[in-house]
Amino acid sequence: MSQDDCIFCQIVDGEIPSRTVFEDDVSMAFLDANPLAPGHTLVIPKRHHETLDDVPEDAAAHLFGVLHRLTPAVEHAVDADGSNVAFNNGEAAGQEVPHVHAHVIPRFHDDGGNPIHAVAGRRPDLSEEELDEIAADIESGH
Ligand code: AMP
Ligand code: ZN
Repeated sequence: MSQDDCIFCQIVDGEIPSRTVFEDDVSMAFLDANPLAPGHTLVIPKRHHETLDDVPEDAAAHLFGVLHRLTPAVEHAVDADGSNVAFNNGEAAGQEVPHVHAHVIPRFHDDGGNPIHAVAGRRPDLSEEELDEIAADIESGH
């Protein structure tokens, strides 16, 4: 499954060049063209899926395995002190390329960046009852 107008499908098909750092039958990883840090890497399933919930479970598990192996290699390559590994999952979350991808962003003690807690908007003020209800909805919804 490949979409003609998708930049990442075009990278998978070799129609757009990329600095590929990993590839197998199911997934691919390449350097981000506009890196937030040296070594900023994107990891994608080769098949076109828009968001994480569109990815079949076996491909998602495979993707996590690749992330697990690749993240230390990315950190090591640029001598990073840590990394943020995250998905912008859906347009509301800032996803611009509609082909699911994980960002591996190397972090350094003095880089002036923020933890992942900085990505969300206004913090909600939730009661104990609301928290219980949300937890129950999540628990019953998967
Ligand atoms: P997102 O906002 O999560 O959809 O991020 C999309 C990412 O894709 C951005 O960090 C872009 O810099 C990156 N990007 C866009 N086009 C390319 C490309 N041709 N090669 C590598 N990275 C790209
Ligand atoms: Zn695609």
